Amino acid sequence: MPGRLIVVSNRIPTEGASAGGLAVALHDSLRERGGIWIGAHPDDGPEEGLFEIGSEPYQRLAFRLSRAEYDSYYLGFSNSVLWPLCHRRSDLVQLRPDYAEGYVATNRRLAEMIATVAEPEDQIWVHDYHLLPLASDLRDLGLDNKIGLFLHIPFPALADLSILPDPPAFALWLASFDLLGLQTRADTARCLEMFRSDPRAEFFQDGSVKFGDRLVRVKSFPIGIAVDAFRSLAETSDSDPFGGERPQEYIIGVDRLDYTKGLPHRFRAFGEYLQRYAGTRRPCLVQVAPPSREVVEAYRQITEELEELSGRINGQHAELDWTPIRYIHRPIARNRLAGVYRGARACMVTSLADGMNLVAKEFVVAQDPDDPGVLILSRFAGAAEDMTDALLINPYDVGDIAQAIDRALNMPLHERRERHRACMAAVEATDVGTWTTQYLAALDACAGTLSVPT
Ligand code: UDP
Repeated sequence: MPGRLIVVSNRIPTEGASAGGLAVALHDSLRERGGIWIGAHPDDGPEEGLFEIGSEPYQRLAFRLSRAEYDSYYLGFSNSVLWPLCHRRSDLVQLRPDYAEGYVATNRRLAEMIATVAEPEDQIWVHDYHLLPLASDLRDLGLDNKIGLFLHIPFPALADLSILPDPPAFALWLASFDLLGLQTRADTARCLEMFRSDPRAEFFQDGSVKFGDRLVRVKSFPIGIAVDAFRSLAETSDSDPFGGERPQEYIIGVDRLDYTKGLPHRFRAFGEYLQRYAGTRRPCLVQVAPPSREVVEAYRQITEELEELSGRINGQHAELDWTPIRYIHRPIARNRLAGVYRGARACMVTSLADGMNLVAKEFVVAQDPDDPGVLILSRFAGAAEDMTDALLINPYDVGDIAQAIDRALNMPLHERRERHRACMAAVEATDVGTWTTQYLAALDACAGTLSVPT
């Protein structure tokens, strides 16, 4: 029987924040097994050490990032180096020594705090790109616990990794985990390619990698949503979330405003659709794109670009009684979104690179199976690996997306139903509850250091 579970994530979910499927699934595992959730508190707490928050049947321990840590570890190395690097935007990578130093130092400080609360039998589950050095730091502090990582974003290509200040250190960070969980089989292949290129790594037939005196297993665990909960949200949600301003026929897009989501391509494609295919049809693109990481320059630029594009396309095509693009630069609560998805004829996901993309899964689950809308899905979203019955598009090709919009809006009912059924099966297979159970079972089965074959 494994010991307690310690979940570590960059941010700890706080009361009042709307809990996504992942947070709920992790809460459930923590409730069942007992344990601790550790993460940075967005705006509160003493400057040093861990402090307890909330009242759950398990402990929630938060820490506070100093202003300098927030700038170098979070905005800097995490979001201006690793994020663009993993999403194939090396041109946006900001290599600065203070970013790398802040990232390493913050992870080290966190590891020291975790070491004060972890007991030998505890299993530690680390989430995402902010915390890659954590296992290596914990090993340095003498911890031999089972430690797993789940990387929610794409694993970078080998050639891109060489942009990092210290690629061998990056490989060592990852090799210090017992289990590396990735979103897709393609991510797993890229991670193994990195180890294959490293003279310190040896391979075993079961796919695990020996690195020094440790054994690390690399495997894909495509993340999903809480299917039943989201379906009932969609079925019971407000039938008129538009409050009387419901467009007659609409396509939905929901994305944090991020340069990885291909939003300018999507807007241009919608403009091209209107120009070339729409005829007398007057569909509306309802685009929800809440602000994200606004202090980073690349995010400021894309915000301006979208404002300019939506203004131009609306100016060209709008009528007195029709606005083609309804662009909402604010967050909408997930329960309201569920109803908006349900009424849409199509959903557009045009990510240029994306770990999974949960919006694609939420849209499919929210549909009425008797009269479902169509998912237009980028080939470069992790979700496309299993949802092969969506209308798959190349998000760089505006003409391809425009054609897919036309096809989606004219698709006969029997084809919509068939595609929806197949997509739904893929979404159900990756329900987030199953995902958590499978990941934790795999972590439990890891060999750790002791039984490393020689
Ligand atoms: N979301 C939301 N309100 C918004 C925009 C997005 O609740 O205004 C939610 C959306 O329903 C989904 C998540 O944010 O659950 C986005 O996850 P996804 O994997 O699509 O993209 P990420 O933001 O993680 O890159």
